[in-house]
Amino acid sequence: MPALPGTGRSTVGCQRTDLRVEANGGDRVVGPGKKTVEAIRREIAREVDQLLRVIFEDRRKTGRLDLEAIEMAVRSAMHHAGAAGLSKLLQFSVPVAEQRIIPCACGGQAQYRELRSKPVLTAVGPVEVMRPYHLCPHCHNGQFPADVELDIENTEFSPGVRRMQAVVGQDKPFAHGRQQLKLLADLEVTTKAVERTAEAIGEDIAARDQAEIQRAMQLDLPIIVGKPIPVLYVQVDGTGVPVVKKETVGRQGKTEGQPAHTREAKLGCAFTQTTCDKDGYAIRDPDSTTYVAAIETAEEFGKRIYLEAWRRGWPRAEKKVFMGDGSEWIWNIADQHFPGAIQIVDLFHARQHLWDLARKLCPNQDAEQRRWMMVHQDLLDEGKIEDLVAALRAIDSSYPELPTRSVSKLDTSITTGSACVTPNSAANTCSSALALSRPDARR
Ligand SMILES: [Zn+2]
Repeated sequence: MPALPGTGRSTVGCQRTDLRVEANGGDRVVGPGKKTVEAIRREIAREVDQLLRVIFEDRRKTGRLDLEAIEMAVRSAMHHAGAAGLSKLLQFSVPVAEQRIIPCACGGQAQYRELRSKPVLTAVGPVEVMRPYHLCPHCHNGQFPADVELDIENTEFSPGVRRMQAVVGQDKPFAHGRQQLKLLADLEVTTKAVERTAEAIGEDIAARDQAEIQRAMQLDLPIIVGKPIPVLYVQVDGTGVPVVKKETVGRQGKTEGQPAHTREAKLGCAFTQTTCDKDGYAIRDPDSTTYVAAIETAEEFGKRIYLEAWRRGWPRAEKKVFMGDGSEWIWNIADQHFPGAIQIVDLFHARQHLWDLARKLCPNQDAEQRRWMMVHQDLLDEGKIEDLVAALRAIDSSYPELPTRSVSKLDTSITTGSACVTPNSAANTCSSALALSRPDARR
């Protein structure tokens, strides 16, 4: 929250109406601060009086208290009183002589012209802000220094309300956000306003992320000093999310000649692990996981997850682990940004790949598929990776009808693992997974 004018930093030379003010061309004298305080007090007292009258009249008529009606009426009255008080606080005065000329971005000087008002929706309802307007005669750009100080530049929503809009605007449709603001905060905003604020804040976050990612790529990151981290995991995955048509323009779908209906959301997380359970399986440290996600290219996402790992102390990790589902783009990220890390295909994805193969080996034969899986999943789950790999490599000859592509695809996604990872090794598990280490990860 920015400091209120006159209460903290005073960078722009604006002063509240604690001093003299000459607004609307007249010689309106608001007087010293005491009187402003008194005026606020009067506003609040008037609201409270009105409120009590309504409550007692209602009880006299009905003989009972309607709590919901009363609590809402009390909130509304407090909002009115607060807004009246805030409005008084937000009446800036005409700048004193030496503050009427301020620098302009063009290098020229902007001169004070007049006080101008604008409505601003705050957490306690609509208020009116009156503040000095300066105009540069050179470039004709106007400025409101008070708006910068109050963080209401180019917007009619206060910082508090924008924060609320961002929260309720996270969930589409935005009309829900409008209803939530009305119910939870008694604030009237349009659906469009929720959308605009949520998206503007989203863009702002994205821009800051990009700036930080750029810095990270220029190896300009500060080394975060601290205790060594015993085991730090980074995990990456992707999933298709349905999107509207304009998001897939010019993108090839999964079926040749068909447009795409989804785009891949890429997700990454980083977490630590310090303990194991009684069976020796590693336990993820509770609440240690941080996430990043974006719909962007693998190259861009690689930088994003690299930055997150760095923030989590990647250079300080004694054991570095990278987990993925076996897709090529994920291993590319691992090789490029996390060289030297232990690479693991997580157990559930490895099982999924085995199931894919089972279906290809025994199409439409459920019982056969399950029998095949019983044998091979046991090898996988027990960490007998070398045996599993040998079995899979032997498939080519025993199933000559199988298209070679299916096996070779698997070969890159699972069967490359030849290192047998014991269940007790800390690196091979996380709370949900354990799996295969790739041989080239032991470089
Ligand atoms: Zn200028």
